[in-house]
Amino acid sequence: MTTKIYEKAPAKINLLLDVIRKRDDGYHEVEMIMTMVDLADRLEMEELPRDQIILSSQAGFIPLDEKNLAFQAARLIKERYGVTRGVYLHLDKRIPVAAGLAGGSSDAAAALRGLNRLWQLGLSTAELESLGAELGSDVPFCVRGGTAIARGRGERLETIASPPACWVVLAKPPINVSTADVYGRLRANELTRHPSIPRMVEAIRGQSFADVCASLGNVLETVTLNRYPEVRQIKECMVKLGVDGVLMSGSGPTVFGLVSKESKLARIYNGLRGFCKEVYVVRMLT
Ligand code: ATP
Repeated sequence: MTTKIYEKAPAKINLLLDVIRKRDDGYHEVEMIMTMVDLADRLEMEELPRDQIILSSQAGFIPLDEKNLAFQAARLIKERYGVTRGVYLHLDKRIPVAAGLAGGSSDAAAALRGLNRLWQLGLSTAELESLGAELGSDVPFCVRGGTAIARGRGERLETIASPPACWVVLAKPPINVSTADVYGRLRANELTRHPSIPRMVEAIRGQSFADVCASLGNVLETVTLNRYPEVRQIKECMVKLGVDGVLMSGSGPTVFGLVSKESKLARIYNGLRGFCKEVYVVRMLT
């Protein structure tokens, strides 16, 4: 009998995203506060006796070869630790793709966590995070989960308390936004207004939902909102429908609204569904 295991790969949202400067190596120095929401892909992993990685998914619109981050994670951990057994990966994709929700990074993190268990490698979370950093800037955070401040390229993490429990309404317009393109258009060294990390950390520490909402900020928003009016429209619509706080996640195009009262959700959901097909109502993972 072969062993089969599962890992959940939750989506992340940025409560705060600041860009400090563009570095000489081309990367941007960022400061972010990231947390997880209860919208997740599910990765199934089954040992194969042959030395092979096979990936399948019900989603027809993602690569299933070495371009897939979960595949890359399996190959990296296998090669680094000399594993000669293979694995069959099945990805049940629920997180919208290229949405600013780190779906691919979370799948890679789930593969690292899962294969560490499946192949009994005994790697620590820190070791998995540093493998993750080789795959992408958001992967270390996805390995660790929870709520964290991320610095550097996003790989230097400091875990903080979870924000107060609330509902998160996610709306993704039907456009694909390239993260590289958004960063490329940002004039990082000319930014005059920066969201405040200490203010958000204090809001979370004090468990003040109102202060968390007031401290949301993302310097990439202006770039994406100017280029894609539909993202601005979703933001404005969320405000009109009465969300308590609203922000674009990552480089977009997904916009999230934070809501404390369950009684408001139906109106917000129905209002958004009027012009946006992909709307999700989920909980913040606290
Ligand atoms: P981020 O928020 O980290 O910028 P994202 O949510 O915007 O990420 P992803 O959903 O991770 O973006 O996908 C970006 C691209 O990566 C897609 O165009 C897709 O082809 C490719 N990709 C590679 N692996 C995966 C995966 N496991 N799931 C989804 N997309 C993947």
